[in-house]
Amino acid sequence: MFSFDNSYARLPQVFHRPAKPAAAARPKLIRFNPALAAELGLDLAGVDDARLAQVFSGQVIPLGAEPIAQAYAGHQFGHFNPQLGDGRALMLGEVLDLQGRRRDIQLKGAGPTAFSRNGDGRAALGPVLREYMLSEAFAALGVPATRALAAVATGEAVMRETMLPGAVLTRVAASHIRVGTFQFFAAEGNDEAVRTLADHVIARHYPHVATAEKPYLAMLHAIAEAQSKLIARWLSIGFIHGVMNTDNMAVSGETIDFGPCAFLDEYDPRKVFSSIDQRGRYAYGNQPGIGQWNIARLAECLLPLIDENEEQAVEAANGVLAAFGEIFQAEWLSLFRAKLGLDGEAADDRQLVSDFLELMHQGEADFTLTFRALGKLAGGTADDVLLGQFKAPVDLSSWLARWRSRIDDGRVPATRQGAMDAVNPALIPRNHRIEEAIAAAVYNDFSFFHRLVDALSDPYRELPDAEDLRLPPTPEQRVTRTFCGT
Ligand code: AMP
Ligand code: MG
Repeated sequence: MFSFDNSYARLPQVFHRPAKPAAAARPKLIRFNPALAAELGLDLAGVDDARLAQVFSGQVIPLGAEPIAQAYAGHQFGHFNPQLGDGRALMLGEVLDLQGRRRDIQLKGAGPTAFSRNGDGRAALGPVLREYMLSEAFAALGVPATRALAAVATGEAVMRETMLPGAVLTRVAASHIRVGTFQFFAAEGNDEAVRTLADHVIARHYPHVATAEKPYLAMLHAIAEAQSKLIARWLSIGFIHGVMNTDNMAVSGETIDFGPCAFLDEYDPRKVFSSIDQRGRYAYGNQPGIGQWNIARLAECLLPLIDENEEQAVEAANGVLAAFGEIFQAEWLSLFRAKLGLDGEAADDRQLVSDFLELMHQGEADFTLTFRALGKLAGGTADDVLLGQFKAPVDLSSWLARWRSRIDDGRVPATRQGAMDAVNPALIPRNHRIEEAIAAAVYNDFSFFHRLVDALSDPYRELPDAEDLRLPPTPEQRVTRTFCGT
């Protein structure tokens, strides 16, 4: 089925532990992703749903798989934990996809591993479906993220606050190497393992830095660049990761481990949904600063590799942290220029964007629909479609006059709107719809889950049959708190 080539399993023993998927009572396929399977070059000839359920719940280990749990550490809400690791996940192996990219195939929720500590290694249906929906929404939105290949119900209950149905998610990632993977070895003072891991990461994700004068510094810069651009993308679609611990930050630059994540309804930079984020550490607007903080933790691990002279190593690492901020700012401005339909660059653009966001904040405007409505104005529709998005009274007239003079660049209105519609999604995974899909699935009704996954695959068009999915929540539908994926 898979053509495995397991480079991580070939790394020294300290990097991983053998893992064995647990038995599941009645595995049943919930959803499979044939488009992704094709991209991965999977050979599915003669494989029926029952067989898929066996494989993607870990009951049948495909030929060539070498199931392992990866070791990692991490800063959780700012506090270092030297022993985390895959407690609820195991990697089956790696494949080279049709484009020659190496991808990890991981089962999430397939039972305990050497790193499970007191956990059961299982996943409840809700978090599995949430990750499935979000992963595939990200793919369609064009934001780097891990992918979902399959969701299988185990037929067994897992004990959380109540008994819940259990499930296994098959996740596909460029790799599962985290900032926390480096921290695991650095904390042990195992410089050799840090170097081995860095060489692996360079070969796998950033081969162009191998020939740099200082390859490890160049790797740090490349990771910082990927992360800063990723976070700018998150902000551009109103995404709040929710648990930006260093163990939930992939060095590949893909969004990973989005547990209690959420999307903004109305714009508020201080918005937090996660029930465990009591101080708002991972609020929407804090994400760039936290990303930079996480990269600083990565830099600390790499100092001995960057320069023998500690002072010089620190100075070089500080240069990367400064670059993180600059790259983020430039990327953010470029994305928000496009969201506003601004062609080229003008000196006041950053101010124009910030002023609009400030008006949205005051006016409690829905983040997604407001940008979409602005696109309609650029296409020649009357101001009312935009004004209707503002719940609290704000005066937009002077801002609109500035914006109109800025976008008056000779393009025809339809072209301008088309460019804006291509970057401002009409449909996002609205928190209340995600919860609704999960709530029905827990009672064995997967129809809304399937409908939502299908709709989310086409987020930039206003399709008539997805109109209800685009609407913000009514007061009764509103989700105020999201919960961790464990
Ligand atoms: P998270 O922040 O949810 O990605 O998980 C943090 C740590 O807790 C990781 O080391 C996970 O492997 C571990 N963990 C989470 N849920 C479980 C579980 N049900 N059983 C064992 N370990 C878990
Ligand atoms: Mg995690």
